[in-house]
Amino acid sequence: MEKTHCYKQCGDLANVRHIIMKGADWYRSHGTENSPGTKAFALSGNVKNTGLIEVPMGTTLREIIFDIGGGIPGGKKFKAVQIGGPSGGCLAEEHLDMPLDFDSLTDAGAMIGSGGMVVMDEDTCMVSVARFFMNFTQNESCGKCIPCREGTKRMLQILDKIIEGKGEMEDLYLLEELADTITHTALCGLGKTAGNPVVSSLKYFRDEYIAHIVDKRCPTKTCTKLVTIEIDPDLCKGCSKCSRLCPVGAISGKIKEAFKIDKDKCIKCGACMEACAFGAIREV
Ligand code: SF4
Ligand code: SF4
Ligand code: SF4
Repeated sequence: MEKTHCYKQCGDLANVRHIIMKGADWYRSHGTENSPGTKAFALSGNVKNTGLIEVPMGTTLREIIFDIGGGIPGGKKFKAVQIGGPSGGCLAEEHLDMPLDFDSLTDAGAMIGSGGMVVMDEDTCMVSVARFFMNFTQNESCGKCIPCREGTKRMLQILDKIIEGKGEMEDLYLLEELADTITHTALCGLGKTAGNPVVSSLKYFRDEYIAHIVDKRCPTKTCTKLVTIEIDPDLCKGCSKCSRLCPVGAISGKIKEAFKIDKDKCIKCGACMEACAFGAIREV
């Protein structure tokens, strides 16, 4: 059997033909003992070759992302992969050589789920990723049971608070506690798995949450409320171009002297950074 194979249909349905034509024993000869056969994944995100793939169970993430997917574009580093659809978990570099099967994915805090596989590079903010998936599941919550209806809303509020630079360390424990409660009390699979992206990103990328909360800094500069735009006085030539372009009059200074940005006025539009011919303006 070829290692990869594209289908236009659902990968699980595509298995049926092979099982009928060649038999269950042939199918079970692929994959691992506890997870026999193959699985289709929708490989997407920061990977050179995106698309539907089918691999034997037990194939490693490294083989999928780097051999089949061709690696990360633009020479960037691999950071994480979110597996299993919107309720799947975020795995880190330490999982690249883990064989993909039902047991190891569950142990790592992810799941095969719908077979979604979103690859993320070094520029991805994991707090924003967790917020994105929580927003999705919160919108999908039908509202029938309180843990999912209210719990996902509270988790989303906390993530928003962290992204806006208003988070506190206790929020991390609250997120974990809420996720655990929802998992054990929600009525259906949507609620039971809703916390996975948050819990797994907290487990493997906790430093990034702490940077947002304690340092009020987004390491990837994704969360705009935590980014500050500054002029380096050593590089600034005092040409005034940036101050003439700033839409809110946040930049001031004297010609041929270093200019300054008023952080309270700056709306982080980035126009000054693009305009400065001396690379004196940067995000910190
Ligand atoms: S867990 Fe299921 S039933 Fe309960 S609110 Fe969420 S989607 Fe509805
Ligand atoms: S455009 Fe650059 S060099 Fe000119 S004043 Fe602004 S920061 Fe300084
Ligand atoms: S980022 Fe925009 S608003 Fe802020 S100082 Fe530069 S030009 Fe002005």
